[in-house]
Amino acid sequence: AAKTTGKGCCAVYEPWMLEQAEQRQAYESALRRAVGSGEFYLMYQPVIDWNTHAVVSFEALLRWEHSELGTVPPNDFIPLAEEIGLMFEIDRWVMKTACMEAVKWPDNLIVSVNVSPKSFIEADLLDSIYAALKESGLPPERLEIEITETAMIEDLPAVHAIVTALRGVGVLVAIDDLGVGYSSLSFLRSIPVTRVKMDRSFIAELGRIEAARAIIQGIVQICHDLSIDMTAEGVETASQTSTLQGIGCYQHQGYYISRPMLAEHARAFVADFGVRTIPSLQECLQGT
Ligand code: C2E
Ligand code: MG
Ligand code: MG
Ligand code: MG
Repeated sequence: AAKTTGKGCCAVYEPWMLEQAEQRQAYESALRRAVGSGEFYLMYQPVIDWNTHAVVSFEALLRWEHSELGTVPPNDFIPLAEEIGLMFEIDRWVMKTACMEAVKWPDNLIVSVNVSPKSFIEADLLDSIYAALKESGLPPERLEIEITETAMIEDLPAVHAIVTALRGVGVLVAIDDLGVGYSSLSFLRSIPVTRVKMDRSFIAELGRIEAARAIIQGIVQICHDLSIDMTAEGVETASQTSTLQGIGCYQHQGYYISRPMLAEHARAFVADFGVRTIPSLQECLQGT
């Protein structure tokens, strides 16, 4: 490591800096190699409706399995992938893979795919959606695109155009992580989304913070009035399940129902869920 102390020079390199830079470099090239090398795969987490007792959809969640790093969670590598311009290619791979896997599921199941609106704007994701649908034969009504509220409010006019185009061909659109972006929710009147997903931070606050319940209840009412589906994310306990049911929120996703699973297990999950009992009052009172 070079340590310069000369007058007017401010660059001081310490060994750890070099190490960090090398580490990042290694991480970066590992990520570049991962695309197209079979190190990515998708896990699917079900969304169920306690009202109809049916499985509504499965959300595709990206996983990176690296020989040395192990399983890298998406929140760790997606920011880097975005920074180095890899996210477009990754989103395209996810789209195609999710459609190809979902077309093998029972007829009515929807597959949800997370995408960054930047991929639409800068890389013609719309075209790769059409291509994935055509290639896989998945009907557009069985594909749902998830866009986070935060990403949406960064460029409302662009997202409006994207959502309108998707709805025009029958693809469903969900606003993900609702409630953390501090949007006014008035966009729900103008953007034709088909579902909102309440961020799990609100669900975690249920039973602890009185306001959480009121906020969720308010969103349930708005969605009901606008005929938009609403899903609660991150439902982990029986008591959260029954509290949500009590305020009219029936579509749930979370560990209480199931962890994400491989595509080939989706069919068996659907069959098993059909006979699963609704959580008993006893279970709910115990609150796990
Ligand atoms: P998200 O879209 O909000 O996905 C839900 C996340 O919550 C997933 O984390 C899921 O495993 C986790 N989760 C589900 N149920 C529970 C629960 O009961 N408790 C808790 N504590 N967590 C729960 P995951 O798979 O680590 O994904 C994190 C985020 O990474 C996703 O948040 C999404 O924003 C992003 N992401 C995942 N896959 C993709 C992808 O293919 N493309 C893009 N662009 N982003 C993705
Ligand atoms: Mg999501
Ligand atoms: Mg979410
Ligand atoms: Mg979330």
